[in-house]
Amino acid sequence: MKNLYREIPSVDELLRCDELKRAVSLYSAPFVAEAARIVLSGVRSEIKNGRRDHVDRVEIATAVALSVGEATKANFRRVINATGTVLHTNLGRAVLSDDAALNVLLAAKGAVNLEYDLKGARRGERDSHVEGLISELTGAEAACVVNNNAAAVLLALNTLAEGSEVVVSRGEQIEIGGSFRLPEIIEKSGCTLKEVGTTNRTHVSDYTSAVGSETALFLKVHTSNYRVVGFASGVSIPELSKVATEKGLPLVEDLGSGSLVDLGIFGLGERLREPVVRESIEAGADIVTFSGDKLLGGPQAGIIAGKKEFVDRIRRNPLKRALRVDKLTIAALESTLMLYRNLDSLPEKLPALRYLTRNLDDIDETARRSALLLRDLLGSDYRIDVVDGTSQAGSGSLPADELPTKLISISNDYIRAEAIFAIFLESDPPVLGRICNETFLLDMRAIEDPDMVVPNLST
Ligand SMILES: *Cc1c(COP(=O)(O)O)cnc(C)c1O
Repeated sequence: MKNLYREIPSVDELLRCDELKRAVSLYSAPFVAEAARIVLSGVRSEIKNGRRDHVDRVEIATAVALSVGEATKANFRRVINATGTVLHTNLGRAVLSDDAALNVLLAAKGAVNLEYDLKGARRGERDSHVEGLISELTGAEAACVVNNNAAAVLLALNTLAEGSEVVVSRGEQIEIGGSFRLPEIIEKSGCTLKEVGTTNRTHVSDYTSAVGSETALFLKVHTSNYRVVGFASGVSIPELSKVATEKGLPLVEDLGSGSLVDLGIFGLGERLREPVVRESIEAGADIVTFSGDKLLGGPQAGIIAGKKEFVDRIRRNPLKRALRVDKLTIAALESTLMLYRNLDSLPEKLPALRYLTRNLDDIDETARRSALLLRDLLGSDYRIDVVDGTSQAGSGSLPADELPTKLISISNDYIRAEAIFAIFLESDPPVLGRICNETFLLDMRAIEDPDMVVPNLST
């Protein structure tokens, strides 16, 4: 045992080993030395407990290199989304198109004309890169962009109604994803909520009679993932716009997902149509707000579009500066919006739409090829089958549409579904599936390469 202790290399000796040269040059000697000390103390206690009968410098250096690799693995990583929720908020919502991703890379790696007007050779506006496109695609007179749709609602209300009342139907007092609660946003924007109507029914007269000297605007909210069905009625934008005009008040609509085109042309939204931004503006909404990374399929952003007089006021609000987007968002958003100029190629080029409209045979084909690879890797203790299922759009979009999909179900008599889930999660990159009725499932809707769901178990 004494001899074994004597064979333990020093930290300095380890740092000079070939196995650690790369780590030292990448992460500095003190960082690697710290990892070496931890590994060496483990070696000493193994000798002490009689669990080690040899000391091999290469083996120890390799262990240090592995531990450095583990410690420096970024926390923020790419994952494989086999959950079946296409716009998964926890997984970053929309996957960007190739064009958008490439433009983000260019913007990240160099200087850009973010606030520089190249034609006029003078200071420019960051919103100017997307304002024209948004107007072209929605029919709005003007537009600006902020960090997300929650910020867009906050900024619009704060600009147009601070210190006054905002009239909203009781049926639209929504909470989205736990952290966006409309009454709280209204309060934080400095406005007072004036609820009208009842949970299931609100009439034009409810709005008319709610207007008093304190009223600043009417707000209509798309209830996204929640619907009142049965004995229910609300007031449409054209009706509400009439009242708003009569009373001389602006009408703001929070569309949530807000699609730029009628998704019906791609066979989506057959049971509950998602609102189209252009229709809302044509119907008389003075300002509409919607997300950039839901059905639109772009980066996280909140888009504010509508009448120029209101957009100008919103732009001048000092809060706009606090909520503005960065150059990467502008790069991704402009590229994404440009894809909407050609609706024929849109479902091919925009990943969110490509996944949502993907043909079942195509999903099945990928699922079968993945299943073969998984059987090879996991062996005969696992039952691996391709079965029918349904996926969802996510983020409150298209809540009533059932999207038929193909799932790979993976089970094992000796291992619980949670443990199989964990095996896939430990892969690099992690593969996220879902568990249903004690069975681990991989939804193949957003998986286009059969290899992608085959876990890499070497790490
Ligand atoms: C999703 C949603 C929001 C919040 O949008 P983010 O872009 O996530 O901030 C607000 N309102 C409605 C109606 C929504 O559906």
